[in-house]
Amino acid sequence: MRDGYALRAADLAQLPATLQVIGEIKAGASPQDMPREIREGQAAAIMTGAPAPNGADAVVMVEYTSLRGNEVTITRGIASGDNIVPAGSEARKGQKLLDLGTRIDYRAIGIAASVGKPRLSVFHRPRVAIVATGDELVEVGEHTGPNEIRNSNSYSLAAQVEDAGGVPVLPGIARDEVGELRAALHNAFQSDLVLLTGGVSMGKYDLVEQVLADIGAEFFFTGAQIQPGRPVVFGRAQEKYFFGLPGNPISTMVTFELFARPMLEALSGMRPAALHFVHARLKSEVKTKTGLTRFLPGLLSGEFENSQVELAGWHGSGDVAVMGRSNCYIVIPPNREKIAAGEWVAVLM
Ligand code: AMP
Ligand code: MG
Repeated sequence: MRDGYALRAADLAQLPATLQVIGEIKAGASPQDMPREIREGQAAAIMTGAPAPNGADAVVMVEYTSLRGNEVTITRGIASGDNIVPAGSEARKGQKLLDLGTRIDYRAIGIAASVGKPRLSVFHRPRVAIVATGDELVEVGEHTGPNEIRNSNSYSLAAQVEDAGGVPVLPGIARDEVGELRAALHNAFQSDLVLLTGGVSMGKYDLVEQVLADIGAEFFFTGAQIQPGRPVVFGRAQEKYFFGLPGNPISTMVTFELFARPMLEALSGMRPAALHFVHARLKSEVKTKTGLTRFLPGLLSGEFENSQVELAGWHGSGDVAVMGRSNCYIVIPPNREKIAAGEWVAVLM
């Protein structure tokens, strides 16, 4: 594990100790390039990554030695086994190093590479249809009239889907009209998972649930006690799962993270990961109404035990610009009306 001298730890009982250097062992050395055995009173210069020679049971770091001719003087004692990793101590032949359902991320790739697995069997990436709904929507590159809104949800969702390991399929915008929604759904349900945005609130033209019901959808929930994202809908139709995500951009983003991401992970053959929260002290007081768990855009700063978080300040769940000046969501439990500055709060990254 270290550049230094391979020796017998027992030879360092009396310090300083002077040993005879009988060779040098480089990383990758083959047996014929190594001293056959380190005997009492002997040492071999050795480099990190080199095999330990027979007879040696420890390596002293070069920092604690001085070399004169072929004699090395050592000023620090050492225990048997120090700075030598026995073969097979990290893992043994046949041992399972990655569980089924592990995302092949940089850690998994490092492990696979180190055990000589250049090819791995994986699940296919689920295809996720993203259908934006709304008469007011126009595509990003198009001219926008005074009362129109650019479709941002399709693209923020596509990025979230890719981040979660899915392949986004973007059929475009469906108008708030039963026939058009039905046609869009017919297409969308060719994919492995369907995400709709908009049209799940209480408005007269929020037709998504009605059209889903018409095609025989089963609803698991229609609403959650959260803000943003309260109208979120989850169900199954034509043997595929779907989410009706509220149209306000921040609601869309939050509900994807809370509900759709774990589903996408499951469809990718993963064990869905639990949501991970960090904790930080509130920089200034937060006041909300009780009843809903809130995920409020926040700004987390500081490091280590000095993490602080504050509200980014927003004009509600339609205020997509807040995402440019926030880096997390502050989680406010439903029973809290007021949280004082200095209190610890949960933060969703
Ligand atoms: P809805 O859920 O359809 O009532 O929409 C709520 C709000 O989100 C409205 O202000 C919509 O204009 C807006 N909205 C809906 N869909 C999108 C979208 N794809 N991109 C950006 N804003 C949207
Ligand atoms: Mg709408």
